Amino acid sequence: MRLCRKCFAESIEEKTRATIAKYRMFSHDDRIAVAVSGGKDSVSLLHVLAKIEERYPKAELVAVTVDEGIKGYRDEALRIAAENCKELGVEHRIVTFRRLFGRTFDQMVERVRGCDVVNLTPCAYCGVLRRKALNAAARNVGADKLVTGHTLDDETQTILLNIFHGDVLRLAKEKPVTDMVHAKLVRRVKPFCEIPERETALYAFVKSVRFQGSPCPYAGEALRNDARAILNGLEEEHPGIMFSIFKSIERIRPALEVMAKKEGLKECAECGEPTTDNVCRTCQMRKQIG
Ligand SMILES: [Zn+2]
Repeated sequence: MRLCRKCFAESIEEKTRATIAKYRMFSHDDRIAVAVSGGKDSVSLLHVLAKIEERYPKAELVAVTVDEGIKGYRDEALRIAAENCKELGVEHRIVTFRRLFGRTFDQMVERVRGCDVVNLTPCAYCGVLRRKALNAAARNVGADKLVTGHTLDDETQTILLNIFHGDVLRLAKEKPVTDMVHAKLVRRVKPFCEIPERETALYAFVKSVRFQGSPCPYAGEALRNDARAILNGLEEEHPGIMFSIFKSIERIRPALEVMAKKEGLKECAECGEPTTDNVCRTCQMRKQIG
């Protein structure tokens, strides 16, 4: 079946609406923080949510962007995120690594290169810090939910990665909408979790949405790149296989949750943020980086 541009865009909006309803992602009066990096997935998501939100006058959207401090890359993304927010009339807040952690990401990478902390790739620790920054930003704007643009591709890659790492019980927590586990942790929601990346990219294209196309200058995680290549190859030969993998985990998640039990969350001895250890991963890393 072939769809014209308008019908294709509407089909993505409808699929997203159906996913939101299926997983009961929002309440009608939620204040929703949308993590907008400036890339195609997050910008497309902002446009789709702005459209859906028209029917819910009591709900509010606020876009949050993390400025890690990556020269020549993040500056362009920030401009694109701001332009999209302005076009849609959505409030836009920016949170910076420098203010939160005292250094830009470029400065952190420089320090790591200059010392013996070699067991972490830049992507690995940026991921931990970004997660923390987004949660802090969502909490600061008084959001009930924090929405991210993770697609079906991202979700299936994460499933494979957790299996590759022998860390399958982590999947208990990686739900389309997370539980309320601590007052300081904003619930995370992934409305694109059942939509393939090629469709979110096509949405941006047919809606003439501006997004940042260039990749981050710090190379991606090697294992995730391998997982992506495996899954893309399989999907090409056997269309629908990513969705089958995603659904398989959805079906066994209740059993995983029983096995993983509920890890009690404490507050980090250094920064007070929720963590399963005495000192959170962010603070552990900051100590390593110095
Ligand atoms: Zn901490």
